Amino acid sequence: MKIICIGRNYAAHIEELSNEKPKDPVIFLKPDSAVLQKNTPFYIPEFSNNIHYEVEILVKIDKIGKYIEPAFAHKYYNQISLGIDFTARDLQTELKTKGLPWEKAKGFDNSALIGEWVDKSSFKDINEISFSLKKNNSLVQQGNTNLMLWKIDEIVSYVSQFFTLKIGDVIFTGTPSGVGKIDEGDLLEGFIENKKYFSLPIK
Ligand code: ZN
Repeated sequence: MKIICIGRNYAAHIEELSNEKPKDPVIFLKPDSAVLQKNTPFYIPEFSNNIHYEVEILVKIDKIGKYIEPAFAHKYYNQISLGIDFTARDLQTELKTKGLPWEKAKGFDNSALIGEWVDKSSFKDINEISFSLKKNNSLVQQGNTNLMLWKIDEIVSYVSQFFTLKIGDVIFTGTPSGVGKIDEGDLLEGFIENKKYFSLPIK
């Protein structure tokens, strides 16, 4: 499987990192080795002093597709989850400044937390899903898919112009504002509406 991530999909997060608003979705990939195994804590890697959490709505592809029309995109996924796109912000800033690819800062081992999958039919409208992240029991990120610059079906369609989508691929749809640093001893908990999708200790 591959992990496709969308960057800069919420206006408030673009502002907090002083990034430019893109005219097309920003896409990057994480390798399958980035998936954090179930029931495993996240260990802060030694190459970074500034690992950030980014809570994001996830979509799992369950049908192979290429050049998918937005109107048919919903036929290519059935499950939704919540995850974290861990980012070595110090390394990313350095690579961005030099105009180099971000992979080391975004695709490192265990940088993709994937929560429990839930059938999309359990949501009234996938473009109205509210989600949040708590760090040590205080709210740090809050988002709603209605604030996405590119909605889920538009993302599926856009991505499929460049990458054939295969069964089991996961799309990280971008993070709202409120990203921040993790430290040893923190506990991250992710919620869609009031349901908890993950609970992750940081070591
Ligand atoms: Zn992200």
